[in-house]
Amino acid sequence: MNAPNAERLGDKPLEEATRVPAETAIREVAAHGMGDRWIVIVDEMNKPLAAVRSEALPENPEGRPISSILADLPPMILAPADSRVDELLPLAAELTPGSVVIVEDDDNLRIWSDPHLDPLRGSDAHLPGPYPRVPLLLKVCRYGGVFRHCGHPQRFVVKPQPMPDCPDPKNLGPHPFRW
Ligand SMILES: [Zn+2]
Repeated sequence: MNAPNAERLGDKPLEEATRVPAETAIREVAAHGMGDRWIVIVDEMNKPLAAVRSEALPENPEGRPISSILADLPPMILAPADSRVDELLPLAAELTPGSVVIVEDDDNLRIWSDPHLDPLRGSDAHLPGPYPRVPLLLKVCRYGGVFRHCGHPQRFVVKPQPMPDCPDPKNLGPHPFRW
């Protein structure tokens, strides 16, 4: 087991992020012309669903909302700024290339991303809980075919067993949440 890492998330090298509601048109986000920056897609409650760099947005989005790219994004972690790095370790195994940690500090959102995520990579530590502040894993449902994915976003404290039923917002047919 690795040495405990009690560093505060808020003290890590973080980048500022801009909140964008999920129903916002992609071309509207791109039209702001603020250069490359972190975008956090938020739901109707203003809570984060995923983060993406503005330069990674589709170039020809037509009228699509930014929620349409959720199915293409890797899992993310959402955690308060006063969490310890250690507290994220139980979720670290779910991180894939492009995953980031969205750090929440009151209303301010910042991004902890590669290459600074090394303390989390390759760790499979299972720490005793419970913790007062629980980091959440942000996942989208992978159910669907090559051209159409469900993409329903959900937040998890742990990987559920068995998977819950997906709300199936695109009416693809009843299915369990596809991890
Ligand atoms: Zn689904």
